[in-house]
Amino acid sequence: MLLHIGMADAYAMAMEYVKMPEGEALLKQVLQFDQYYAHPRFPGLKSMYTDDTEMSCANAKVILEKGSSGTKLDYANAYVEEFIRGGKRKGYSKGFQAILESVNTGKELLSKLIPDSTKNGAAMRAVPFGVLPDVMSVIYAAGMQAAVTHDTREGVFSARMVALMSHFSLYEDAPFSELSLYLKEHINWEAVEEFAHVFEQEYPYNRRVRDGKYSVAINTVHAVLTILKKEKTLIEMLRAVLTIGGDTDSVAALVWGIASPRCREGSYHFVFMQEELELGSKETGAPYLLDLGKQLMIKYIDSPVQRLTLCGSGHHATHGKLMSKMWCWWLEVDGIVIMNRDKMLETGIDIGKRGLEFMKKFRPFLPIDAEEGIVPPMGTGDWASYVFSLDRVKDCKGAEVVLREFFPKTISQVIDGRPSMNTMKMSFTEEEVQ
Ligand SMILES: [Mg+2]
Repeated sequence: MLLHIGMADAYAMAMEYVKMPEGEALLKQVLQFDQYYAHPRFPGLKSMYTDDTEMSCANAKVILEKGSSGTKLDYANAYVEEFIRGGKRKGYSKGFQAILESVNTGKELLSKLIPDSTKNGAAMRAVPFGVLPDVMSVIYAAGMQAAVTHDTREGVFSARMVALMSHFSLYEDAPFSELSLYLKEHINWEAVEEFAHVFEQEYPYNRRVRDGKYSVAINTVHAVLTILKKEKTLIEMLRAVLTIGGDTDSVAALVWGIASPRCREGSYHFVFMQEELELGSKETGAPYLLDLGKQLMIKYIDSPVQRLTLCGSGHHATHGKLMSKMWCWWLEVDGIVIMNRDKMLETGIDIGKRGLEFMKKFRPFLPIDAEEGIVPPMGTGDWASYVFSLDRVKDCKGAEVVLREFFPKTISQVIDGRPSMNTMKMSFTEEEVQ
């Protein structure tokens, strides 16, 4: 979750409020998803994330320590601490940045803030609240942290909307197309009435047809909800965010933060995004975000990680016609099983001999009682049909070492795969599965 927030934030930052038609050339480049780009006005901030991610981390830390019982002071302390920890980064709104730079404690921060903003600052950092175990806690805590800086109808509503979308993604099995219904059931009815258009209408992708009637907070949640309902993959979602324009880094961070636990896609785009994030820093980049995200998942969603899903991306010659570009598979099994040929044809999976070698190495980590389930390899394609259930792996660490050795370029090891289903997801590049 947090890693995806960070990558989307840093990537989409290049287009934040970039105007058209001047920004058309940059938009064209950014839509290639081949490297991080710099914002025209902040060339030094390429690959760096902004306030959205940093404050999400701060909220995550409060949730880890206090659950839903964090006070305004707890949140304020966390915002100041995380700001200092990140080296007082740029990228916050002007006024808030100035206040943050002038204080050393949460108490000071609270004394200087006038929380009357109707912008999206409370929503942009609210994804982590989705991990809390029940709707009441989610609503309460998201509202409490909103009140620190955005104690307005728009501020509190938008933060609760984001937190609930995140909760839905983690805890419910229904598709995002049912999000509006779910949100309307749980948000107070006055807000549902006041901001009815958010649920009923699509946010316009064409920037020319938008009017300035609603606050940034409302437009943000409206855009996020529309994109989640309309787009199918993380890259398509990011493309939509960049095309829509406006506060791109916040909308991107929210969309990816909410959707990533459900997305099974593996993509080579994520390689550079993860490796180059924050110039590869261990302190603030991918390792930090992964660790924090993992702690959240372990504490609130599942403990320990139970299922490992192997995902691949790219065209595959043998069964490629069935899922030509992106393929992945997802099976719920006890121990280890072999998918039958029909299932393989259905999913378009065929990996080859390399998989057999891999199986031999991986075997010692499997529990004895799973041995019976292992059918001797039958040749090309068999490896692909294995799915590992990590709760039944004897030694997760050791198994992970073998996986890493075998797939050195594994593009992401995402602990926040589909946490409600106890999943650790690993994605592979096409090159590695050949
Ligand atoms: Mg930002």
